[in-house]
Amino acid sequence: MKIAVLKELAAGERRVSATPETVKKFTGLGAEVAVETGAGASASISDDAYAAAGATLGPRAQVIAGADMLLGVQGPDPASLAGLKQGAWIVAGLNPFGERARVDGYAALGAEALAMEFMPRITRAQSMDILSSQSNLAGYKAVLDAAAEYGRAFPMMMTAAGTVSAARVFVMGVGVAGLQAIATARRLGAQVSATDVRAATKEQILSLGAKPIFVEQVKGIEGEGTGGYATEMSDEYKAAQAELVSSHIAKQDIVITTALIPGRPAPRLISDAQVASMRPGSVIIDLAVEQGGNVEGALAGEIVEKHGVKIVGHRNVPSRLAADASALFARNLFNFLSVFWDKEAGRPVLPDDDEIAQAIRLTRGGQVVNARLLAQ
Ligand code: NAD
Repeated sequence: MKIAVLKELAAGERRVSATPETVKKFTGLGAEVAVETGAGASASISDDAYAAAGATLGPRAQVIAGADMLLGVQGPDPASLAGLKQGAWIVAGLNPFGERARVDGYAALGAEALAMEFMPRITRAQSMDILSSQSNLAGYKAVLDAAAEYGRAFPMMMTAAGTVSAARVFVMGVGVAGLQAIATARRLGAQVSATDVRAATKEQILSLGAKPIFVEQVKGIEGEGTGGYATEMSDEYKAAQAELVSSHIAKQDIVITTALIPGRPAPRLISDAQVASMRPGSVIIDLAVEQGGNVEGALAGEIVEKHGVKIVGHRNVPSRLAADASALFARNLFNFLSVFWDKEAGRPVLPDDDEIAQAIRLTRGGQVVNARLLAQ
């Protein structure tokens, strides 16, 4: 069983899909691990560290040759996989809806592509969930990015020269990223409030010492669909939410938006008029910018200034913490592959009737086989 760890070729991608720790664990299971030269450099992992953990190193063509499985953070370009063995697995965050042509390319190569972001949100799969591990770090980094752009302090400070008041931080969307953003902003001493469409988050917001801001007047809305994800809200709810947010946002210094609805563009939560109502020097971080953005005027990969307010739209925020993001991502991959490891076969085996296999398998035998993709 040969596992190839590819160097990420996408612009701005600093993470890597295996660390010396996971290389050691894979070799412990009896696998041979080949790492593309320089794969870990941008995540502060040297080739020597991989070699010391038991990996061999080499150029791309050499690590791919004879590999039974390729590991990546993002999906590799099919054109870069010449010589791939028939039936080899490609295990990575494959962005199946956004990169559909690439998925067809994997099918044409005869590969079995497994999309880690399609991991079902079930207890058994929690340790394999790349969306959670990476969103958690993104939520933390969003607060640090806000603090870096903000020309004032976060905590209240009483000094001989007078008092500095605490920053008011508002978190919109309280999933994994939002919860970590609340906790991080609280640790920095900010006054934090938060909102979500899922009623269950109210309790979580309170338990982190923040103030919940919720639409109360539109009854009968739970906002939670399958797998703990949000659903699209009614027009009545959206209007009530916009009104509530307008009055609240005008009093905030920092707003962090994280709202996503799976398979749809990100919901628009902040209009240009609402941005204009904030005080100059305020900062908005739009973590949903690559999925269409929660904030009007946000641009992916840019910091724009509108009405004296900075709107920050960094791409690939987990990659901004490449070392930790790689460590968690690599463990997610190992946790997944080791659970399905078949000792006799000396490799992981995914039973066809397994919920995880059905959810993440995109291609097999030259065909696209994933139900979610075929339903598109
Ligand atoms: P997400 O990234 O899909 O969305 C982020 C947040 O935005 C969500 O809380 C969502 O409710 C919210 N949102 C959507 N539309 C909104 C709107 N119009 N206004 C305000 N907020 C809006 O969510 P996520 O971080 O992936 O987490 C979703 C849920 O899944 C959470 O309950 C989380 O605890 C759960 N989860 C479960 C598992 C597991 O059991 N294995 C793993 C991870 C997450």
